[in-house]
This record gives sequence, C-alpha cells and structure tokens, in this order.
Amino acid sequence: MSEADLWDGLAVPPGLCRWCAHPSLNRTRHGVTYMRCTRSSWDERLPRYPGLPVVECVGFEQAGG
Ligand code: SF4
Repeated sequence: MSEADLWDGLAVPPGLCRWCAHPSLNRTRHGVTYMRCTRSSWDERLPRYPGLPVVECVGFEQAGG
C-alpha cells in the first residue's frame, strides 16, 4: 500500500502533519489507519498521537526539505 493510500485512509484530515517530516502511518489488520508523531519520542512538547487535524505545531518541519 502506498503512503498516499495510507494518508487517504485516515478518518480525519491530518492537516500540517501531511507535509511534515515526522509522521508515521500505520494500518491495523482491522483497516483502521492511525498516525503517530515520531518527533514526540524526543520532543516532550508533542503528543505521541496528535489530535487531527493539526493546524499549528511547534515541531513542524517540512518533509523532504
Ligand atoms: S511534529 Fe507536529 S506537524 Fe509534525 S508530525 Fe508531529 S505533530 Fe504533526
């Protein structure tokens, strides 16, 4: 499954996380897609599972930059 398909599988739009370098997407065997913020593992300001859509984030960094 492509990353774009995983993004499309989220129940709500991800907002900023879609364009950030730090999200990790997973789909359970029940077909539920969820997004984890990998930056939260070392940046204590961020939640492991941010409430979506994220509209403002101190940890945002443009993906692929
Ligand atoms: S750092 Fe912020 S914008 Fe980036 S994935 Fe985490 S919560 Fe989303």
